[in-house]
Amino acid sequence: MLEYRVRGSSSVGRMSASQAEGRGFESRLPLHPHPPRGVTVRNQLVEISRRFAADNISPGTSGNISVRDPQGRTFWITPSGMDFSQLMETDLVEIDVASGNIISGDRIPSSEVPLHVLTYQRRPDVQGIVHTHSLFATMFSTLNRPIKAVHYQLARVGDEVPLADYATYGTQELADRATNALGLGNAVLLKNHGLLAVGESLGDAYRNALDVEWVAHLYFLGLQIGEPDVLTHEELERIRAQFKDYGQKP
Ligand SMILES: [Zn+2]
Repeated sequence: MLEYRVRGSSSVGRMSASQAEGRGFESRLPLHPHPPRGVTVRNQLVEISRRFAADNISPGTSGNISVRDPQGRTFWITPSGMDFSQLMETDLVEIDVASGNIISGDRIPSSEVPLHVLTYQRRPDVQGIVHTHSLFATMFSTLNRPIKAVHYQLARVGDEVPLADYATYGTQELADRATNALGLGNAVLLKNHGLLAVGESLGDAYRNALDVEWVAHLYFLGLQIGEPDVLTHEELERIRAQFKDYGQKP
């Protein structure tokens, strides 16, 4: 059985692994949208990496996660090809936002450093980035169709999840195409590859990645039966306004 936190309350529930599958946005490890006092961004990156592994959101060692340093000139990123459940702070690599150069760390950084560098350069509001090969989002990336807002769970991400043209992983071309398609949204599909989600905190970026995966799963299920209805921009705007007052206050 898995433990999960009920959104908006302090109670903890339990469900079987099969029930948990597809729930996406609730799982046994707590998620702090904004780190409590005393928790550094590197602490948070390790915590989210462990949750990334526990949630089984991306196969094997695929995917990568980064967080902007509070002083703003650098970011910390997960190393290449290491088990997310075993990561420690000493495995993280610090990258300069302006040049993309390694500032500190002994490990080889993720192959998607150019994608993270360009995203932080073009989006000063972004503090955290999560890249996954999560199954249903990646499935939509193989089709020429964005993920539509068939549920309000997508509202924080945008009116839909757009699709970037194909480019080989790890290239500057992928970084250019992904950031162009991302625009001012919070997630973008990378064609025949996966998902990039961003947020005003690393916790927000991770929640956005899970929300996209859950809505992609729901949308896929609906498409087996028919053409699901999509929420309008006006309704999504109303929901975004309501979300501002939702949940626990810091
Ligand atoms: Zn990838």
